[in-house]
Amino acid sequence: MTAQLTTETAAEPKTFDLTNPATGEVVGTYPVHTAGDIAEIVAQARQAQVWWQALGFAGRKKRMLRWTSYLAKRVDEITDLCHRETAKPRGDGLFELLAGLEEVKWAANNAERVLKERNVKPGLAMMNFDARVSYLPLGVVGVITPWNAPLYTVFCGLADALGAGNAAIVKPSEFSVATGVYAVESFYKANPDAPKGLVSWISGFGETGSALCKSGVDKIAFTGSVPTGRRVMQACTENLTPVLLELGGKDATVIAADADLDAAAKAIIWGSMWNAGQACVGVERVYVVQAVRDPFLAKVKEYAEKVTAGQRETDSYGPMTLPSQVEIVRRHVADALDRGATALVGGLDSIQPPYVHPIVLVDVPEESSAVQEETFGPVVVVNTAKDEDDAIARANATEFGLGSSVFSKNRGREIAAKLRAGGTTINSVLTFVGIPSLPFGGVGNSGFGRFHGDDGLREFSRAKATTSKKFNMGKELNSFPRDPEGYKIVSKVLRLKFSRRLK
Ligand code: NAD
Repeated sequence: MTAQLTTETAAEPKTFDLTNPATGEVVGTYPVHTAGDIAEIVAQARQAQVWWQALGFAGRKKRMLRWTSYLAKRVDEITDLCHRETAKPRGDGLFELLAGLEEVKWAANNAERVLKERNVKPGLAMMNFDARVSYLPLGVVGVITPWNAPLYTVFCGLADALGAGNAAIVKPSEFSVATGVYAVESFYKANPDAPKGLVSWISGFGETGSALCKSGVDKIAFTGSVPTGRRVMQACTENLTPVLLELGGKDATVIAADADLDAAAKAIIWGSMWNAGQACVGVERVYVVQAVRDPFLAKVKEYAEKVTAGQRETDSYGPMTLPSQVEIVRRHVADALDRGATALVGGLDSIQPPYVHPIVLVDVPEESSAVQEETFGPVVVVNTAKDEDDAIARANATEFGLGSSVFSKNRGREIAAKLRAGGTTINSVLTFVGIPSLPFGGVGNSGFGRFHGDDGLREFSRAKATTSKKFNMGKELNSFPRDPEGYKIVSKVLRLKFSRRLK
């Protein structure tokens, strides 16, 4: 385990050690926050949020950009900490940091455009009113994050929550607390004028996360696995707390007959193996059409055999973070091979904890766990489809729907439109994740709600309608006493407006 509970005397708060999964080095010791601690933190956050909201868009933007600037001057410090905490290559931490800072900057720069009060048309029924919609902060938002993308997920949650004028309480995974704490504390280093509680962190295990869900915060933004997502939603029913769920995936890539096979093979190997395959939007399934199967598999083998796992600067990826995840990988690979699949690269021998070396499985029966469940390891399934329609149907035959991709020189958009997923990349993989103006989220068991873009900022706001009377109509339906003359006039106008036949 990379997060170990310590035994202490009953009077002392419980703590746990965060350790590096490759070396066992203790990276930090953190408290297990209780429901009582969280109640105090929420109360403090409520007060701080009033200050933050009063700053207005310009004041908040200034402070969020000060924060990105502070972080940008400490890139090596942050990627080193991420490397010590997860043992992932510094390059993967850098990729997360870059995408995360893009989010914060985008939210800071666009919040006013997306959320400022605007006039809307009142329509016929209320033509004597003016109508306005405003997007107000929710209040205090809980952001619960996973260990596999510790920097990116914390920055995404904070970008939208703060951008929309909320206070935020971050509960990082027990396996990646150090970077979560760094992200929160750096906000104060960049903004010493910010009141305590505007951004806070809490640490602990599932019970701490559950206590946050029941604490009366105004929204929970949860990123993690499907089973935990269900528990989070259940805990949130207690106070009818709204939830945003960013859950697991089983992303598919379609390789059409007119694909650039070299580019496709190179991309799917990176998409499936980076971060040791521990990526919600990692490529887990590939459907290649029969016509190009053999040359494509030859390219896939060539690229996969160049990938290495280890701790050298040149290694492609690091260890698996959790021993339990290694066992899931072992189960999926064994099940696929038992059902008749072939290992094109690697096999059960590639599983050498804490590392799993690259595994490419071909012709895996669709009912296998390696096709149906999230594997979350450096394993990719490459199956052959009769044609594009068959590839699309099989790509969509999953309970998940997070990301997807397609390689085709001429029909990329056509195929992309038929893939059931929150995002699709044409002739590359995962790119929608790094574009802050696009919405990010899933369908089906991959969750609901959106981070990023206009939708992300609105996700952390509540729409408020305001109307104001401009003049008296004289003839009205919505006042007493009933006015037969008014009825006649309004019914005539109604018929005129709605009865026009469409050609
Ligand atoms: P997890 O579900 O085990 O834990 C996520 C967080 O939830 C942790 O902070 C954990 O302490 C907390 N938690 C655990 N039990 C809880 C409870 N009962 N109530 C509230 N909080 C609780 O997930 P993980 O193993 O840390 O992360 C891997 C999973 O996250 C994978 O399924 C991956 O696909 C998914 N993920 C999704 C996205 C996305 O954007 N869709 C991004 C990254 C990871």
